[in-house]
Amino acid sequence: MSSGKKRRVVLLGSTGSIGLSTLKVAENLPDDIEIIALAANSSVPELAAQALATGVKHVALHDASREAELRALLPPGVKIHLGTEGLLEISTLHEADIVLIAIVGTSGLQPALAAIEAGKDLAVASKEILVMAGEIITARAAEKGVRILPIDSEHNAIFQCLEGHRGSDTEISRLILTASGGPFRLTPAAELIDVTPEMAMNHPTWDMGPKITIDSATLFNKGLEMIEARWLFGIGMDRIEAVIHPQSIVHSMVEFTDGSVLAQLSNTDMCFPIQYALTYPARKKGNLKPIDFAELSKLEFSAPRTADFPALTLARTAGLTGGTLPAVYNAANEVAVEAFRAGKIKFPQIWETVAATMAAHATVQSPTLDQILAADHQARIAAKTFTRPA
Ligand code: MG
Repeated sequence: MSSGKKRRVVLLGSTGSIGLSTLKVAENLPDDIEIIALAANSSVPELAAQALATGVKHVALHDASREAELRALLPPGVKIHLGTEGLLEISTLHEADIVLIAIVGTSGLQPALAAIEAGKDLAVASKEILVMAGEIITARAAEKGVRILPIDSEHNAIFQCLEGHRGSDTEISRLILTASGGPFRLTPAAELIDVTPEMAMNHPTWDMGPKITIDSATLFNKGLEMIEARWLFGIGMDRIEAVIHPQSIVHSMVEFTDGSVLAQLSNTDMCFPIQYALTYPARKKGNLKPIDFAELSKLEFSAPRTADFPALTLARTAGLTGGTLPAVYNAANEVAVEAFRAGKIKFPQIWETVAATMAAHATVQSPTLDQILAADHQARIAAKTFTRPA
């Protein structure tokens, strides 16, 4: 893919928060980014409105039962792709340069692999793709010579800091992911049992969907990001760390073997990492608010409370063990978050559920995609047995 021409982007998950930000970025840079296809799960009116606004010729709808409803809202020239097959079709469109994956859950996995096989670059927002199948995805991407561009702010920051040194195991010493610490950064351990879903939804710096907001409160979000980083940058889990940084200005850092640390700083705006991924390696004018250092006055860092928030230690275990265990970590957490939001379990039972599910899992090393999906499925069943009301 040449870096000078307009990027033709397939957007999977167009009606979610990342999808909406991506459309804003594309609208701001019409000479650099063209959205050529959109996919949504079931938000029919929103998807139709986006298709009309962008003028795409392809849309994919996961919920095939609502085809007629979508058809009625679209001009005849727009092709509708349905179900899982539909996602694969638009991810491999001949005219596409890059597939941006922002669909939640495991449904982004197969489109990601199909896009790689078809020689498309990937922009990845969905954590599951690299957490569950990082080994397979990164190996295939390397073989096909396609890029995996991270959209998560931490990985995007590391990606920027590694420019010129990517893949150099001898030059990179540590990857340091920053974490806001969430709303319970200073909450005494004994009070975590009283945390309600409403309290957990109140994130100090980022405005995000419910699942990722709860994950930020438990630090599972950071645990998932540590595992993602392990695959994305080919760095051993023992050299990936998390540090609490409440201001969320330093988005992550790389320490090199000469002792120098590079950090990426900016105000919090999801449009920025999306823009960087879609215009990489070029930098373009966007709407990021400049940092006012005088007003900012201080940047704070502290060690995460790993004993009170076991998500990071569990992530390290999952990442060091590898195989199917990271998929189990992810799946058990999803089930536990769901149960917590439904009022079935207490806040600390989220990590207790994950720990118990991981302990019960027999890890398969170098798994196939089917084995990963089977581990995911089994972990969900196992986790449900641990999330019965207390
Ligand atoms: Mg993040």
